[in-house]
Amino acid sequence: MRLRRPGRLAPVLLLATLAATRVAAFDLQFTLLDNASGFTAAEKILVQEALGRAERMWETVIVGYQNGANIISVPISVTPATSGLAAAAFTGTTQSGDVIYATSGNVLLNVNEIENFANWQGPGANGLNFLDELLAHEIGHVLGIGTLWTANGVYVNNTYQFTGSRAVAAYETEFSDPVGYVPVEDNGGPGTPNAHWDQMMRSSGEAGDTNGPGGAWALSPLTGVVDALGRDRALELMSGAVDPDYLEPFLSRTTVESMRDLGYLVAAFEDFNGDGEIGAADLAVWMSGFGASGLQIDSLASGDSNRDRRVDGRDFLLWQRAVGTAAIIAAPEPKGLSLAVLMTIAFIARSATRRR
Ligand SMILES: [Zn+2]
Repeated sequence: MRLRRPGRLAPVLLLATLAATRVAAFDLQFTLLDNASGFTAAEKILVQEALGRAERMWETVIVGYQNGANIISVPISVTPATSGLAAAAFTGTTQSGDVIYATSGNVLLNVNEIENFANWQGPGANGLNFLDELLAHEIGHVLGIGTLWTANGVYVNNTYQFTGSRAVAAYETEFSDPVGYVPVEDNGGPGTPNAHWDQMMRSSGEAGDTNGPGGAWALSPLTGVVDALGRDRALELMSGAVDPDYLEPFLSRTTVESMRDLGYLVAAFEDFNGDGEIGAADLAVWMSGFGASGLQIDSLASGDSNRDRRVDGRDFLLWQRAVGTAAIIAAPEPKGLSLAVLMTIAFIARSATRRR
């Protein structure tokens, strides 16, 4: 028996262990609080289902912390309220390196709006469920969007220009708008300006006369600045208002990269399982999700890389492009996934796209 070989292997194993522990996982945990204006049993179910989807979205795109921050999980309480729509704040922070992270938070949710937002029957009634988007938005605030910007040096109040370099680069590419910053909301009620991406706030009259025929609902939140799929940045998840008559808000690369500016480790949209690599495991996710439609805000976790709430050939093509460029830094692909297999899948994906 030779002892030399295990002796040589030991440092390799040690390195592997270090690499595995250096990247802390990212975890959110929720507690529904009860009070005098509490949730009904039916509302609790709606909120818990929506929280599950919002959690899945954030845990797919955020995969850990930079600077070796050791935050085991972020507990967030959800408290029933009877005014406003929803609001959120962090309730604890920690500093790691030069970054200040949220370590806990609270979300206020108006119980009188839950049924409305779970089945939209207001202006432009479409029966869609906006609760998961609403909660994902508020969780974004808990994690630092609009709340830890100035503390982390990526925003100066009343400039309406977010300057974190990762988000700016993402915004300029994603929305073909090379302005050198991400436009921040400068209008709306308390808590809205300086804390969201910019849109035309209909409720505040920024978009026109709220006293005209049809009131604010007759106005348009759109800015005319759109991504490759024609989605106006006004309808992004972290803009200043949910506009249910314009369908469900979408998650942009700009928002995800702004989390990178706030010290989080983030995953690419094609990294469906959020393990930090784009590879065969993600393709398997896409394959099992293929054909799904009418998905919610966590659709990324089913392979919806373009976030249009359906899993189809377009998502595969984005994965294919991403896996090609990420191959240099990603782990080697399993040998079984040959070019021929990929080409076959590409063909299936293309014909599926054409059929629709
Ligand atoms: Zn907000």
